Amino acid sequence: MPEGPEIHRAASKIRNALEGKTIEDIEVTLPRYMDRSNEFLDKTVLKVEARGKAMLIHFDTFVLYSHNQLYGRWTVNRRATEAKKWNRSLRIALSTKTHTCRLWSATDILMLEPWEVSGHQYIAKLGPDVVIEETTTEELIEHMNQKRFQRKRLKTLLLDQGFFAGIGNYLRSEVLFTAKLHPDRTVSSLDEDEKTRLAEKALFLSRQSYKVPGITVDLELYEQLRDIGLSRGQARHWVFTRNDRPCHQCGELILHTRPGGRRLDYCPTCQS
Ligand SMILES: [Zn+2]
Repeated sequence: MPEGPEIHRAASKIRNALEGKTIEDIEVTLPRYMDRSNEFLDKTVLKVEARGKAMLIHFDTFVLYSHNQLYGRWTVNRRATEAKKWNRSLRIALSTKTHTCRLWSATDILMLEPWEVSGHQYIAKLGPDVVIEETTTEELIEHMNQKRFQRKRLKTLLLDQGFFAGIGNYLRSEVLFTAKLHPDRTVSSLDEDEKTRLAEKALFLSRQSYKVPGITVDLELYEQLRDIGLSRGQARHWVFTRNDRPCHQCGELILHTRPGGRRLDYCPTCQS
């Protein structure tokens, strides 16, 4: 499933294609909304934004909400380009004079009234978004200090979009490694320095992997690793998918676990 940085990058592409532009052609294949497709026509897109893992496309009278879950995908093409043939089904295609944005295979798609957005069950539960520049370290610490999080383990909380919105599987492992925290630690066991590290690393890594797609290691280290022949996939992370290989910091072998069936890798020495 894509994580915050990937969703925000998709939003930025869609924003460039749609924001301030008029919809000149529309295709809706969702039975629920087929008879409302003309509501898109000749309307201007006011704003495109990602919230957690959801995409919001704002028109003046409604907001198109979509959450990609496992299989959903947005594509953006020049309008003249034919839609690619692949094993995904088209849900919605929005065309401006120059571009077509298509949403494929997603099942969670809604046309919301503008006032319904903040109360939508997914949006309302989201914690602070770690990818957007407005979120601060202090805001994350204040949020994690809430009573409901205290007894929970970091390995569970870091996949909970109500804790830090935008963190997913690879970021969970990478944030815990760079914050030097064992995945089994609870929030209540963290001292002030550890909370600060957790918040700072969550922001730093999410923003770096937004700007430099999916790379969480120091960029200098990344270049060195590429220079000695490692592939992008082998060089991009500190610990994630690096199980049984030596830690870049201490040389200890990285361990692999699967809490809740989702991969989590960590260094037993740096994160003791
Ligand atoms: Zn280590």
